[in-house]
Amino acid sequence: MLTWLVVLLLCAPGHASLPLVINTWAFRDAAAAAWRALQAGGGVLDAVEIGCARCEAEQCDGSVGFGGSPDETGETTLDAMIMNGNTMEVGAVADLRKVKNAIGVARAVMERTDHTLLVGESATAFAESMGFIPEDLTTNKSMNIFTQWLKGNCQPNYRKNVIPDPSKYCGPYKPTATPEPSRRPRLTNIHSHDTIGMIAVGEDGQVAAGTSTNGANHKVPGRVGDSPIAGAGAYADRSAGGAAATGDGDIMMRFLPSYLAVELMRAGADPSTACAMAISRIKRHYPQFFGAVICANTTGHYGAACNKRPGFSRFHYMVSDSHTDPPLLKSVDCF
Ligand code: ASP
Repeated sequence: MLTWLVVLLLCAPGHASLPLVINTWAFRDAAAAAWRALQAGGGVLDAVEIGCARCEAEQCDGSVGFGGSPDETGETTLDAMIMNGNTMEVGAVADLRKVKNAIGVARAVMERTDHTLLVGESATAFAESMGFIPEDLTTNKSMNIFTQWLKGNCQPNYRKNVIPDPSKYCGPYKPTATPEPSRRPRLTNIHSHDTIGMIAVGEDGQVAAGTSTNGANHKVPGRVGDSPIAGAGAYADRSAGGAAATGDGDIMMRFLPSYLAVELMRAGADPSTACAMAISRIKRHYPQFFGAVICANTTGHYGAACNKRPGFSRFHYMVSDSHTDPPLLKSVDCF
């Protein structure tokens, strides 16, 4: 009861006029690009695609687009999705290699195939066939992060129940005889995570949502996070609203927080409460998880919530509507 009182006080809902765009983190240029797309007559899908693409091109804070989060082999791979809340179509790519514009490829999956999700080298081949240019996603910065990690005996990493001891040594690893529950704290340096998640709501209540990220630093090759998974990274449904998540995707994707938040809004919860309840569901099992959710409904109400943990007590997000030029930086206290 007390927790909910705190949640209600911290997560006061916001209200904007429609159309409305909200996105995770203080990614101002992405917010402005999405808003301009709507002003120029684009639809909600265009706004989400253009906003996320801006983050990919500018690398936002290094956690979106090329040159970030090298995996155990030093390669940057991208995850992205886009969802049309009017038709319930989704396009997504995961473990995408050698193509910078992941959200663009995700949209091509949605609009130029009957599939929902393409992965890995095959997603790259599809992208190339659709006219996207293959490029090396490695930069001096990502190469430097990788070489420092190698020099530091590959610490930290995401391995467990393998030999040699992954908390001390690099691989190659082999499985131990019997897997045991992990006693190592999860690798959740909040500075090695971030995703752009964006929701656009049109004047007539049309909704789209999307995400783009380069995932998690030092991930095991092939790792896919929550961002390209519908209902986990983002979700949109014209009859309720949209939501998008950021944080420790390996944990968050187990709870489909974006789907849960949209369903709660459908059941009448205001966006702040819906976001907070989605966070609470995860918190129950992983009290220390790193994550945040943004939510918007089709009447222009919006909100966000995050899980309080050491080093993360406040979450920033952007709001763009006709009264906010340039887009407004908002924040919410984590609980
Ligand atoms: N959710 C993303 C992932 O785990 C990263 C993040 O948002 O921080 O891939």
